[in-house]
Amino acid sequence: MSASKAYRRLEPYNTEHVHVIPLYDLKEHIPYPECWCHPTADDEEYPEILMHHAADGREAFEDGTRVPS
Ligand SMILES: [Zn+2]
Repeated sequence: MSASKAYRRLEPYNTEHVHVIPLYDLKEHIPYPECWCHPTADDEEYPEILMHHAADGREAFEDGTRVPS
């Protein structure tokens, strides 16, 4: 897990999951698995960490699948 400043960790209303939510996204996220972005577990080792997906696609840059041109 990178320490990117573009994300914050939210401790939600239950302790089942830790949500990693993009800051200043185009749409507000809710710290639930039912969020519109369909958050996914980021790492098989840490299935309790749910990674939310930014509406602006920023994460594609962070994981190296896209590079800024
Ligand atoms: Zn979300």
